Amino acid sequence: MLESAHHLIERVGKSLGLSSEDIDFLLSIDQEHIFDITLKNGTTHKAYRVQHKNTLGPYKGGIRFHPGVDLDEVRALATLMSLKNAAVGLPLGGGKGGVATDPRKLSEAELEELSRAYVRHLHPHIGPDKDIPAPDVNTNSQIIDWMTDEYEQITGDTTKASFTGKSVAKGGSNGREAATGRGGVIALRTVLEHLKTDKKELTYAIQGFGNVGLFFGVIAGQMLPNLQLIAATDSSGGISSAFGLDPDELAEYKKQGGKLNEHKAEDAVTITNDQLLAEEADILVLAALGDVITEKNADTVRAKIILELANGPISDSAYDLLTSRGITVIPDILANAGGVIVSYLEWLQNRAGEHWEEAKVNEKLEGYLIPATKKALEYADKAQVSLKEAAMAVAMRRILETRDAKMSRKKES
Ligand code: GLU
Repeated sequence: MLESAHHLIERVGKSLGLSSEDIDFLLSIDQEHIFDITLKNGTTHKAYRVQHKNTLGPYKGGIRFHPGVDLDEVRALATLMSLKNAAVGLPLGGGKGGVATDPRKLSEAELEELSRAYVRHLHPHIGPDKDIPAPDVNTNSQIIDWMTDEYEQITGDTTKASFTGKSVAKGGSNGREAATGRGGVIALRTVLEHLKTDKKELTYAIQGFGNVGLFFGVIAGQMLPNLQLIAATDSSGGISSAFGLDPDELAEYKKQGGKLNEHKAEDAVTITNDQLLAEEADILVLAALGDVITEKNADTVRAKIILELANGPISDSAYDLLTSRGITVIPDILANAGGVIVSYLEWLQNRAGEHWEEAKVNEKLEGYLIPATKKALEYADKAQVSLKEAAMAVAMRRILETRDAKMSRKKES
């Protein structure tokens, strides 16, 4: 994933005519924090926080708990966070954290111990004006609540603005839990309107019907009634039905802890995750993990539009294969930016001591995401590049212009 992110920055940088110093600036990472967490049960877990750039504002990005976490992945994800925040116009830099662990193998008490220990190691390097972590893969509001509490106990900071993605009862924002999925629907709707296909009946398949995918399905049902879900998988595999699946019903089933490959729905057949990628659907939503489409399986994809709801689900080489076939990819840095946008709104509320209604949060979310998506669409049309390259170009320029403006202000004073 790091290689893909770097290739893309280099490619877009060259097309923008950037100097190699500027490209190196965007590729380089400010700081890396790497440490071991040993639990009372004797197990040791490798932990990371990578702070890529804080040109636009404090570092911002999630923390994931997953066995596949390693330094390069966290570097790639931190870099993507800087670009994402810049692409949607947030005054935030980019960072990412992770612990190489399988949280399903930990008891609730061990999960809490791990979460609190992460903060004990990292606390000098984070904070409301420095670096504001949030949830990511396999982390949720409960984990963030433990982390916020630990940070408060160590530092005395009572603003709760040191983390976002907290539970609503503990200073979280209304609408944050659903925000990534909702943002995906908003970005998709904006692109469909641009392609003038928003009124057509379209089908979609979704890989990763978990935390993010589930909200996408439910909110798509409300905001894009012409869309019909025909296949969905989670890590176990899933189901497909040409007659359509009910996202609300699947979401309810998932919330009860069910596995999709065991779900019984009328006229549905069981499918694997590989089969899902090859479903005969107009839109493919990738909401699971990174690098699920590579040059090895890119030719199996039959959708015309792909929404990157996960971070980095398409490798750089596969990306070219897909776009050369005329497939529109709505890039992760727009498609899943809803999460961090509402994180930013949560941070603003914490700092002001306010608590906004969900409708206000959702309206502000649209206020960031719709113009950012339109800007990338316009740029893509004008420069005749893909939407991903366009969003990257907008983001890269914004970071560099802000850096230059800051430098010249420094010189003047
Ligand atoms: N983990 C999410 C992302 O990748 C959200 C980050 C945040 O809210 O800071 O965008």
